[in-house]
Amino acid sequence: MNRKFCLDLTLDELKAWCQENGIQSYRAGQIYKWLSSGVTDTSDMNNVPKDIKAKLEENFIFGSFEVRQKLVSKLDGTTKLVFELHDGNIIETVVMRYKTGLSICISSQAGCRMGCRFCASSKLGFGRSLTSGEMFAQVAVSQKIVGERIRSVVIMGIGEPFDNFDEVMGFVKLANDPDGLNLGARHITISTCGLVPMIKRFTELDLQVNLSISLHAPNDEIRKSLMPIANKYSLNELMGACRNYVAKTNRRLTFEYTLFGGVNDGDEQAEELVRLLGKGLWHVNLIAANDVPGSAFKAPSKQRVRQFQEILESGGINATLRREMGQDIMAACGQLRRGMENKDK
Ligand code: SF4
Repeated sequence: MNRKFCLDLTLDELKAWCQENGIQSYRAGQIYKWLSSGVTDTSDMNNVPKDIKAKLEENFIFGSFEVRQKLVSKLDGTTKLVFELHDGNIIETVVMRYKTGLSICISSQAGCRMGCRFCASSKLGFGRSLTSGEMFAQVAVSQKIVGERIRSVVIMGIGEPFDNFDEVMGFVKLANDPDGLNLGARHITISTCGLVPMIKRFTELDLQVNLSISLHAPNDEIRKSLMPIANKYSLNELMGACRNYVAKTNRRLTFEYTLFGGVNDGDEQAEELVRLLGKGLWHVNLIAANDVPGSAFKAPSKQRVRQFQEILESGGINATLRREMGQDIMAACGQLRRGMENKDK
């Protein structure tokens, strides 16, 4: 029998299961309360009788969301957690502290199939997609570890969320549920490298969830050299899907643009980006790449970053510079998982 992970269940599913098994339905409420507060081990559920715990374990996967590593940044309090899943796959989650409260960056897959050249997550290949409950568990368990409510979620960690569309949408539902995380859709952001058909599918759902596109280049040539997905969907197709999203949902879109020294950070590229985007309900989030040992990509100079931003703004494009969090604990996506799996091997 293929057992489901405990947090994949909704409260209604748990109630139905209790009913089928002759267990009073208020027990479902008790169990779900434990789960959504980050307790995944039945031995910690001290108001649940032993026979019910045994039945739960027989039917579902419990107690398997193990913290393998926890790092806290001395610079800004960013907490990075490495979790081991029940089948040995490793994922990463990062909790960041902003003025507005805690925000979490979760993984949607163990590994990634997209192969972006600058990304540590793609280097170890692909394990599998996560279930909605495994995404839920990252938030619930992290919340328990840091001892404070998490206010917003970005699905921007390891993996491409739109390569795991249904489970990610399942997570959004679990997160929205007042019995679950009780997080408004507006506090959730999905970041994609640009899977055009899935952007269209997402547009049709007309959710309040925020959408962010990893652009990283102003033309197809540079984008292809950074992101293999650009060989499948041209910038023309991608921008068409983005315009359609904004027109249909009237929601503001974010473009992520990582500046790599000498690759995409010149005046010429900034001017090209202004022409590509034109006027629209969107803004650009600029991120200065870090110098990572062994990486072919270099950080841009501070002067270049400033100039790039100025060109965008004088071209009428709203551009902000994203503060890098947890620089002392390798908080960029996939770096710890890579280190840990290399060590394990
Ligand atoms: S940047 Fe995102 S989409 Fe690209 S390989 Fe890394 S995890 Fe996958």
